[in-house]
Amino acid sequence: MNKPMILVVEDDTPVRNLMITTLKAHKYRYLTAAKGSEAVLLASSHNPDVVFLDLGLPDMDGMNVIRQIRSWSNMPIIVISARSEDQDKIDALDAGADDYLTKPFSVEELLARLRVTVRRLSLMKNDKVTNSSVYNNGRLKIDYTAGCAFLGEEELKLTPIEFRLLCLLAKNTEKVLTHTYITQNIWGRSWDNDIASLRVFMTTLRKKLESSPDSPRFIQTHIGIGYRMVKVE
Ligand code: CA
Repeated sequence: MNKPMILVVEDDTPVRNLMITTLKAHKYRYLTAAKGSEAVLLASSHNPDVVFLDLGLPDMDGMNVIRQIRSWSNMPIIVISARSEDQDKIDALDAGADDYLTKPFSVEELLARLRVTVRRLSLMKNDKVTNSSVYNNGRLKIDYTAGCAFLGEEELKLTPIEFRLLCLLAKNTEKVLTHTYITQNIWGRSWDNDIASLRVFMTTLRKKLESSPDSPRFIQTHIGIGYRMVKVE
């Protein structure tokens, strides 16, 4: 893969310059936009690998940019915003953002999120090439076709819902999935008691999957937001 091209969408010049300097120093290619309309245009004309998106833009809300890009593309979008309420993060993730970083952010954190996203992108590309029906992540292996999962040599005794939950998280490795997104996928709805059931299923799944469920390696909790399957080194 060529060095990835990042579309930086930010109207605040000092913040934009900080991002550009960081990207340049790490040899990433980049494009910039200070307005939402410009961002949508550049996203379609240049097909960048990743988008850094501010939500407070002069001409439109960044949420609108997410929805417009999502109408035709799955390119990863990392929201970088001063809006720090859980509901803002949930709305952005539900609209199709891949990750969320709150301002003020550290440059190291920005680079770490970018690396994770680029890695996820190349995993997705490899998956398409091999049309893989087997998922591998550290000691975890999922055979989607056979409908079973293993930890090392040992088969995990999962209930059908636990298995579907595990597959959903695995197919979206490194992406934060909101409670609503998960319950919509598993139960086709998202009522308060579905979210409560999700917690219960997640607890039982972790007991089977994680060697120490209190410090999980595979499934990360984003409190108040959702869960993320982490790619284990
Ligand atoms: Ca702004």
